[in-house]
Amino acid sequence: MSPYINGNGNADSSTSHMPSRSSKPLSPADALATLKEYTRGDGLSLHELMDSRKNGGLTYNDFLMLPGHINFPASAVSLQTKVTKNIVLNTPFLSSPMDTVTEDRMAISLALHGGLGVIHHNCSAEQQAAFVRKVKKFENGFITDPVCLGPDGTVGDVLDIKARLGFCGVPITETGKIGGKLIGIVTGRDVQFRDPETPLRSVITTDVVTGRAGIALDEANTLLRDSKKGKLPIVDADGNLVSLVARSDLRKNQNYPLASKVPESKQLYCGAAIGTRPADKDRLKLLVEAGLDVVVIDSSQGNSKFQIEFVQWIKETYPKLDVIAGNVVTREQAAQLIAAGADALRIGMGSGSICITQEVMAVGRPQGTAVFAVSEFASRFGVPTIADGGIGNIGHIAKALALGASAVMMGGLLAGTAESPGEYFYHEGKRVKLYRGMGSIEAMEHTAKGVPSAVGIDNAATARYFSEADTVKVAQGVSGDVADKGSITKFVPYLYTGLQHSLQDAGVQSVTELQAESRSGGVRYELRTASAQVEGGVHGLNSYTKRLFA
Ligand code: NAD
Ligand code: IMP
Repeated sequence: MSPYINGNGNADSSTSHMPSRSSKPLSPADALATLKEYTRGDGLSLHELMDSRKNGGLTYNDFLMLPGHINFPASAVSLQTKVTKNIVLNTPFLSSPMDTVTEDRMAISLALHGGLGVIHHNCSAEQQAAFVRKVKKFENGFITDPVCLGPDGTVGDVLDIKARLGFCGVPITETGKIGGKLIGIVTGRDVQFRDPETPLRSVITTDVVTGRAGIALDEANTLLRDSKKGKLPIVDADGNLVSLVARSDLRKNQNYPLASKVPESKQLYCGAAIGTRPADKDRLKLLVEAGLDVVVIDSSQGNSKFQIEFVQWIKETYPKLDVIAGNVVTREQAAQLIAAGADALRIGMGSGSICITQEVMAVGRPQGTAVFAVSEFASRFGVPTIADGGIGNIGHIAKALALGASAVMMGGLLAGTAESPGEYFYHEGKRVKLYRGMGSIEAMEHTAKGVPSAVGIDNAATARYFSEADTVKVAQGVSGDVADKGSITKFVPYLYTGLQHSLQDAGVQSVTELQAESRSGGVRYELRTASAQVEGGVHGLNSYTKRLFA
């Protein structure tokens, strides 16, 4: 790509790369040939940019990529990437293992759109395994955990479901749960004008069209359409309810061409996080039994005896399970975990939007420099890296990839979507959801309302944060809220398309090419002064509306 004689990124602060100038203007026709007289490209190579002895520690907002040459459409840009030694995804998007970001709904939705959800561990091992199982058992279009009632329920129960969840077509099973023998279904019409005390057994519609377990989605859709019913319960050979297909989802039952699927089983990929306590070995056993594909060892400082031994133990005990170790921000930390057998590294200490680690611990590293240093080192061993924390927009994702990360992990950017755990509420007139650091006091104490997994769970998880000797909880994160971002089904395609356009502007057609050209000096960079950063944002307007996508 680079037309220059010395495009290899060797630092050169002199002006010797510029040709001598004659006073006579050159012909425009000579522009391209004249370019070749310069010995290196405009701007800086990635290595020059990331020379921290000269430029200090940098992060995403401190630099820009210079535009390259475009001779392909943005839609031709491939975002395929290797997130671990063994797992290739069609998009470089991971969600953080945080109790306000990733449970089963987020993991399913993100995987359908080509990413990978990492389920948090601020809950019991059984509950975390149940989340993993739901992701692995997910079949597009089939609701595998429908709200059910038993025959002893009342019309009032159905009205309550309608008020809370917005629908009232409820399957009735003998047990009142999925897996029980299907008795019938109750719809809006069945409960209309009825006394709330009326028992359901007197209003149930028992003449129900059902599908047999194993039915393909298109067949189920056809049955639904032809039966003119609102819901199609799917039952096994004994008449037990296994799932439900809803008419309201008919149009949504689309294909997901980018979906992250295990090639052999076609199940969605699922990740989950664990700690490095002895009890995490038992937790991991349950997760593996539930079908886990990749485990993230969740720590702010991965270069510990605990983690190194844990990685070694996992690789011996579950050789087929991919391990993402971390977090790391230096080559020295990375070397320890690579030597222990990590299949990928998670990079970031103190860069998260809810993080106060750098403030309290005085330890960490600016994220851009961390991603560059660790990725450069890890790439020598074929170990992919994940830039974790501080991703606030599409530009940050593009820069993290350019710096060498194979993927990004997002907390705050995905919190506030419909698929993140918790309910929406209003704060100062804005619709928001709770978002909190896993090192916040609230997360440690499991106190928040509106976070499903935090309610009714014992406080055992708190133990994972501290050494036995600790008597004071020292927070490394805060608890707050983030704006409603709508559904992942619109938000992730926005990230995807935006990223394709970003790479197109840089003149590269894939993540692999972006990294290769950055290493060779073909993609060029520029540092941004503080005033350049102001210039690069919206400025000089009296007021404006910032709509990110439509
Ligand atoms: P951690 O589990 O790594 O460490 C908590 C404490 O437990 C540490 O003092 C550690 O040394 C100790 N510990 C771990 N295993 C042990 C063992 N087997 N025996 C004895 N002591 C052991 O967790 P953390 O770093 O405090 O992070 C907690 C959560 O907060 C995680 O979800 C993490 O991702 C998040 N966090 C992230 C960052 C970041 O910058 N990425 C910063 C702070 C917190
Ligand atoms: P964000 O995407 O900038 O919001 O950052 C999310 C990342 O912050 C997570 O993936 C974790 O690595 C990190 N993190 C989670 N909880 C805490 C915390 O309490 N303190 C510091 N960092 C945290």
